[in-house]
Amino acid sequence: MLHLLGGSNSLVTRQSIPVMSGSPASPHSPRGRFIALRHADLGQGFTVARALPTREQRMVGAWCFLDRIGPVDLTESQGMHVGAHPHTGLQTFTWMVHGRVLHRDSLGSEQVIQPGQVNLMTAGQGIVHTEDSLPGSTRLLAAQLWIALPAEKTDMAAAFTHYPVLPQWGGGAANSLQFTLLAGEFSGYRAPTMTHSPLMGMDIHALRGDETTLSLRTDFEYGILPLEGQVLVDGQTVTADRFLYLPAGEVSCSLELPAGSRCLVLGGGPFAQPISMWWNFVGPTRAYVEQAQADWLSGSSRFPVVQASAAPRLPAPPIPWVKT
Ligand code: MN
Repeated sequence: MLHLLGGSNSLVTRQSIPVMSGSPASPHSPRGRFIALRHADLGQGFTVARALPTREQRMVGAWCFLDRIGPVDLTESQGMHVGAHPHTGLQTFTWMVHGRVLHRDSLGSEQVIQPGQVNLMTAGQGIVHTEDSLPGSTRLLAAQLWIALPAEKTDMAAAFTHYPVLPQWGGGAANSLQFTLLAGEFSGYRAPTMTHSPLMGMDIHALRGDETTLSLRTDFEYGILPLEGQVLVDGQTVTADRFLYLPAGEVSCSLELPAGSRCLVLGGGPFAQPISMWWNFVGPTRAYVEQAQADWLSGSSRFPVVQASAAPRLPAPPIPWVKT
C-alpha cells in the first residue's frame, strides 16, 4: 500500500546471505529476537512502521514485507494516495482495522476494503494498482503485507480477491479476546484466503485485558507485531516500536493483552529459496527483477494501465546493484 514512495524500500533480499543479529537495538530475548521497527516516511504527513524486511530478519515464512499503517488521524493529513505502481512475484495482503481504502488495478478490479476485511492481490508475472483512503474515514489502521510466491509460481496469472468475511472466534482465559484468522489454519479454523505456501496470519484483539496460550507449529517460524498498544509474549513486553521474531521449534507461547490492545501473529515454514526484492518487485533472481524494472520503465504491456484511475505512474528508482 505505502511501500512505494522514495527509496526506503531499497533492500535486496538474499536468504543465502548470513542474517545479522545482536545489534544494540535488537537484544536477544530468552525466546526469540526483538527487531526495532523502521519508520518509512511516505510524504504528505504519512509515516509507516516497517517490520519486514530488515537486515536482521528478511522474512517470516513466505511473508516478506510488513508495514503497520497508522493508527493515524486522517483529519490531520491529506490521507493516503498511492499512484499506479507495478508488482511481480508476490501477493499483496491488506488487513484493514480502521478506515476505508479504495483499491483499483489493471485487471479492472475496483474494491473498497472495510474494517475486518482482507484484500489479496496476486501479482504473478505482473499487475498495476492504485490505493486511496476514502473521505469519511477519520482514522486509519491497517497492516500491509507481501507474500513471496514460490519459484514455480512466480509467473502465475495475476488475480485480485476481496475477502469480506473471515473466521472469527472468542477466547482467552476470561473470554475477552477476539481472534480473526487472516490466512492459513489455526485452532481448527481455516481462512479462505488463497495462498501458495505453508503460512498463517491472525489478528488478536483484547476487548478487556486477558491472556492466552497459542499452540505453535514446530516447523513454523513466527512474528508478533503490536497493532494497537503493546502485548506481552512469554512475559516479555513487545512495545509498539518492536516486532518479536520466534524461530522454528517452539511448541507454544503465552500472550497477555491489555484492554484495547491488538496484535498480528504471522507464521510460516522458513522459505526454501532465495528471493530478490527491489522497490515493488519480487523474483527468484536479480535478473528477473531487472527485467521487471525494464518492462515498467519501457511501458511494456506486461504492466497494463489502471483504467479507472487517473493517478500518475510512479517512477521506479534506479536499481542499486546495476551500474549505469
Ligand atoms: Mn502495492
